[in-house]
Amino acid sequence: MSETNPSRSGGQVGQGGQVTGESEVADLCRELIRIDTSNYGDGSGPGERAAAEYVAGKLAEFGLEPQIFESAKGRASTVARIAGEDPSRPALLIHGHTDVVPANADDWTHHPFAGEIADGCVWGRGAVDMKDMDAMTLAVVRDRLRTGRKPPRDIVLAFLADEEAGGVYGAHHLVDKHPGLFEGVTEAIGEVGGFSFTVNENLRLYLVETAEKGMHWMRLTVDGTAGHGSMTNNDNAITELCEAVARLGRHRFPVRVTKSVRHFLDELSDALGIELDPEDMDSVLERLGGIAKLIGATLRNTAQPTMLGAGYKVNVVPGQATAHVDGRYLPGLKDEFEAELDRVLGPRIRRETVHADRAVETDFDGALVEAMQLALKAEDPIARAVPYCLSGGTDAKSFSELGIRCFGFAPLRLPPELDFAGMFHGVDERVPVDGLEFGVRVLDRFIDAC
Ligand SMILES: [Zn+2]
Repeated sequence: MSETNPSRSGGQVGQGGQVTGESEVADLCRELIRIDTSNYGDGSGPGERAAAEYVAGKLAEFGLEPQIFESAKGRASTVARIAGEDPSRPALLIHGHTDVVPANADDWTHHPFAGEIADGCVWGRGAVDMKDMDAMTLAVVRDRLRTGRKPPRDIVLAFLADEEAGGVYGAHHLVDKHPGLFEGVTEAIGEVGGFSFTVNENLRLYLVETAEKGMHWMRLTVDGTAGHGSMTNNDNAITELCEAVARLGRHRFPVRVTKSVRHFLDELSDALGIELDPEDMDSVLERLGGIAKLIGATLRNTAQPTMLGAGYKVNVVPGQATAHVDGRYLPGLKDEFEAELDRVLGPRIRRETVHADRAVETDFDGALVEAMQLALKAEDPIARAVPYCLSGGTDAKSFSELGIRCFGFAPLRLPPELDFAGMFHGVDERVPVDGLEFGVRVLDRFIDAC
């Protein structure tokens, strides 16, 4: 059952009758969810323009002068700059994407684009990826503008199109065509990180993303000899391709403990007071519950076959067969990955790139990381921020091209039973309202200390 909380739906009024970041964050999130920004990856995405205008309106209300950039029809992103107390200091970028992956309403308990509140959560496509962070950013910025609290240094805000299809029409476009927008920016926060993993009653880890695997999406092709299906044929493209694809699909790339994964394991063994053996990762993963699927994929390179194509009639041997593979490699291991791929696939396979983007990695240290730790600790005494590597990709790949140090820090305190990692692109995506309010408080403290 759905229910609408009247105190939240109408007035956006907090305690004492004042509108605050905390009091309006859930409504901002719901309104963003109601703008259907489904990104089908085929160039369509008309909802992004409406989202860009919505965001610009919310920022302009308190005196900012946001700019909207359209890379193609309807593919719009919004950027604004907030002047800080000390303009001589380098700027901080806070970025979020406004597009979402599509959702099939029949599969959902509450309509994915209704933005309903039920069971203490805001439900809908984008509730965790990542209209939650978009709403938290808007709420905090609006509150600071409303109450006249300048950040210590310049902050650039970017609300971006097209992240879910590689960011070509969003972050990549802005970085390539309008790099001046990010003049002086040295550090950035965005998805995917800052969410909690409760270890026990004395310890809650908050996973801050400091690295991302690189992506290499490929098409594999085998050319064979076409002919009649009734005759002998020792050069069948389908047979050759399937053997290679099956070899790759079964192949286990070796465990490689990269800097950020090593750091994560060190922090975890320190926090738990136990030794963790990187050679025995299966037993490490068993201890990680719902986040095991996040961490497990960052221990090695992977190459998953995802599409197959060949043939058009049952009695015709086709001259060609193709497959698509989603390849992901760890920071620093691109060459090793490519060489191993070719070795496993063998000489008959022609390999082409469909889409590729870099791996990123930064150290988990410095004043900005301390600001994250302090802000989390102030709102959750048992908080401990730890770095981790993300197996997927985000707009951080684009911004790292400008030399910006990128962190995934979208703070959320979550109930232990919620399968947070499973909700990314999943069914019944939802975020606790009190988690959003927590995020607003943490981000506000973080900005004070940034
Ligand atoms: Zn996302």
